[in-house]
Amino acid sequence: MEKVINSTQISRRNLLKFGAAVLGTSAVTATLSSGSSSKILANEAPEVPNNLSPDDALTLLIEGNQRFVTEKRVNPHQSFDRMAEIAEHQAPFASLLSCADSRVPVEIIFDQGFGDLFVVRQAGNLVSPEETGSLEFGTAVLGCKVVMILGHERCGAVAAALKGGEFPGQIGRLVAAIAPALATIQEQNGDPLANAVKANVSWQVNELKKSPVISDLIAQGKLKVVGGYYDLDTGKVELVN
Ligand SMILES: [Zn+2]
Repeated sequence: MEKVINSTQISRRNLLKFGAAVLGTSAVTATLSSGSSSKILANEAPEVPNNLSPDDALTLLIEGNQRFVTEKRVNPHQSFDRMAEIAEHQAPFASLLSCADSRVPVEIIFDQGFGDLFVVRQAGNLVSPEETGSLEFGTAVLGCKVVMILGHERCGAVAAALKGGEFPGQIGRLVAAIAPALATIQEQNGDPLANAVKANVSWQVNELKKSPVISDLIAQGKLKVVGGYYDLDTGKVELVN
């Protein structure tokens, strides 16, 4: 029987050790203070400083999407020089949990490049234990100031959950994980699939906030978790409550 380790069982000291091992000890300075969350100071940060506020980080994302929508992308941080600059250390400002859909390339639709975004992708943008762990790492260790859970128009995974039925292999697990979110859409007007995608995003946002690591950062004003909906026709990302 596999032993499942709950995030609350992992001490902050071990989390920091993990971060130091991944990042290199020179890149991370950890200060542990009694009774409060650890402070992780990332040295040698690339040009986007990680002392951004959560609101500023969200603004950077939204501005990047506006450049994409208006065909004014600047394609930042995509050179070999940038690759070399961050080869030893990363300090992304935002973390995204998006669908695996090929029509939602995250760095492109937010006009970002190497080292800017910590991206987790999975069909249906679901908050499973592994995805939660990834997002905890992206925020508590790497210092992302905003997490966006990003659904999109005409999502096949959500459409399958809406339709129901039998699915081959493990696809049924995806569908089952989306299904509880759809109980809230029965009385809504408008396109049922769009409503279902947005309901799933809101549901997953709430699921992620159940993580003590995430909720602790939110309570300290160091993190914001938001939902987003990507329009496949216009390229625009709107915020989802
Ligand atoms: Zn999808």
